Amino acid sequence: MSGFSRTVSMTFDIVTIFPRVIEQPLEAGVLGRAIERGVLDVKVHDLRRFTTDRHHVVDDVPYGGGPGMVLKPEPMFRAVDFVEAERGRPLTVILTSPQGRRFTQADARRLAACQHIALLCGRYEGFDERVRGRATEELSIGDYVLTGGELPALVILEAVARLIPGVVGDEQSVAEDSFSRGLLDFPQYTRPAELTVGESGPTLRVPEVLLSGHHAEIRRWRKREAVSRTLTRRPDLLATASLDEEEKEILRALQDDRMAEWQK
Ligand code: SAM
Repeated sequence: MSGFSRTVSMTFDIVTIFPRVIEQPLEAGVLGRAIERGVLDVKVHDLRRFTTDRHHVVDDVPYGGGPGMVLKPEPMFRAVDFVEAERGRPLTVILTSPQGRRFTQADARRLAACQHIALLCGRYEGFDERVRGRATEELSIGDYVLTGGELPALVILEAVARLIPGVVGDEQSVAEDSFSRGLLDFPQYTRPAELTVGESGPTLRVPEVLLSGHHAEIRRWRKREAVSRTLTRRPDLLATASLDEEEKEILRALQDDRMAEWQK
């Protein structure tokens, strides 16, 4: 997909039987531009290239019987060998799997510090168990089962890549995203300031404070909204969130209000 360049700050190698499923989404948007500019180097490897038979077979029946097919181990081993020989040894080899540890923003931050990551995409009933020994970690994107590891690989790649300096235009927006400090993001609005839905529907207004031009009040409103949203939607995050003094005070006040409401 792209060659090495001196400006490359992060390299991904992805092994899949469906290269286009990975390549196509990477042609657009922020990641597409980062690849074009050489900030990201993403190489997609077709697992079938690492087969040795005429029909490029990548799967076989499971030992012990049962439904479905299993990805053969040898092509996957050869693909990882190829990546190591041609592109250097990846610091991290991630096996995508619903049985893996749940991928979080903290993992994205940790992985963004690695310079070279390989992602292995499963299909069918998954990988031959022996391939697990070739991975440094096994990650799941959630407690549900997809047909293949391509979407999980893209999810991991995108979450990691947008943390790399130079990938997203405005780094401040990344720093303020949900989860970055353990808080959900505050609500966002754009023009128009008033919007009537349908012929006689309600008028939807942007909160007055955002139109005030008063930066300190806007900052305080945003902090309050972020803390309040997190308290309502994801209170579990607050146990480990890194809040500043103002946010702590806002949280205490919101909790007191809720307690008072509950005791009424
Ligand atoms: N039989 C496997 C099991 O129950 O654990 C599921 C295999 S799944 C149909 C095929 C492939 O999709 C997996 O090998 C993995 O690469 C990928 N996959 C599916 N769901 C995933 C998830 N939640 N997170 C990460 N990868 C997933």
